[in-house]
Amino acid sequence: MTAAIIIDGKEVAKSIRQGLRPRIAKLKENEIVPGLAAVLVGDNPASQTYVNSKAKACDKLGMYSEVIRKPASLSQEELIEIVEGLNANRKIHGILVQSPLPEQIDEPEVTVHLSPEKDVDGFHPFNVGQMLIGRGKLLPCTPHGIIKLLEYYEISTEGKEAVVVGRSNIVGKPVAVLLMQKGKMANATVTIAHSRTSNLREVCGRADILIAAIGRANFINADMVKEGAVVIDVGINRIDDPNREKGYRLVGDVDFESVKEKASYITPVPGGVGPMTIAMLLSNTVTAAENIGC
Ligand code: NDP
Repeated sequence: MTAAIIIDGKEVAKSIRQGLRPRIAKLKENEIVPGLAAVLVGDNPASQTYVNSKAKACDKLGMYSEVIRKPASLSQEELIEIVEGLNANRKIHGILVQSPLPEQIDEPEVTVHLSPEKDVDGFHPFNVGQMLIGRGKLLPCTPHGIIKLLEYYEISTEGKEAVVVGRSNIVGKPVAVLLMQKGKMANATVTIAHSRTSNLREVCGRADILIAAIGRANFINADMVKEGAVVIDVGINRIDDPNREKGYRLVGDVDFESVKEKASYITPVPGGVGPMTIAMLLSNTVTAAENIGC
C-alpha cells in the first residue's frame, strides 16, 4: 500500500487560467473586456475574502471586475434592482451574488432575476435545466472544477462507482449530475448520500470516486474509504488552532492524514477544490463574454 497522490488544485487552476489568456486576448481584439460583478451584502469576513480574491484574480488576467458592497439591511427588492442593473450593464458579462445572504432575502428568488447569459455561478433554473439535459454552457463552478481536476490527472470516471456525500444545490446535486451524464469525464454510476442515509459507511465504501461535500470537519475517515479510491474533499471547515496567528485553521470533510494512506488520489484542504472554484468562475465569465459577443 502506497500513500495517495496529492491532487494539486493550485496547479490545475493555474493551467485553467493560462488557457483563458488567449481567449481574453481574442475578445480584446474585438474590444470586449470580460467583466465580472460581485455583489456582497453584509460584512461576513469569509465572503469578503472570497469576493476580494475573485476580483484580484480578474485583475491578474486583465479582466474587468467590480465589487458592489451593500449593508446587511438591504431589502430583496433593492438587491433585485441591482441585479437588473447589472443585467443591462454592457461592461459586465458575469454576475455573482455572494452567499450567504441576510435572512430577509430569498436567494433563489434573486437568482431567477439574473440574466441566464450572465449567470456565471450556473445557479439560474435555466442553466440548471440545461446542465441536467447535458447542454450546459455555464456550469456551476465547484462541481465543474472537480471534473477538471479529475480530467487533469487523467482519472477515468467511465463506468466507475461515484459516491457524492451531500445533496446541496451548489455542490452535491450538480456534481452528481455532471458525473452521470453520457459523455467524456462522465458515464459514472452515481449514488448521492446525505444526513438521512442509513448505511453511510457501506455506501462510501463502495466508491471508486468519493466526493465529500458535507461541511463537517474530518467526517470521512479511512474506515469509510475503499482501498485505492479517489477522494475529493470539497469541505472547508474552520477548527480552533491556538498555534496559528488567526486562532484557527482550515480542514476538509475528509480526515486527510488517515485517508491518504488508503486512497489512490486525494485533494488537500486548502489547495485542492478551492482554487478550482475561482478558476472556473473566471472561465465562465470569459465564456459568457464570448457568448454575449459585445
Ligand atoms: P450544505 O450544508 O448545503 O450541504 C451539506 C450536505 O451534507 C447536506 O446535503 C447534508 O444532508 C449533508 N450532511 C450533513 N451532515 C451529514 C452527515 N452526518 N452524514 C451525511 N451527510 C451529511 O453544504 P454545501 O454543499 O454548501 O457545502 C459543503 C461543504 O463544502 C462546506 O464545508 C462548504 O464550506 C464547502 N464548499 C466549498 C467550496 C469550495 O470552493 N471548495 C464551494 C462550496 C462549498 P441533508 O441534505 O440531509 O441535510
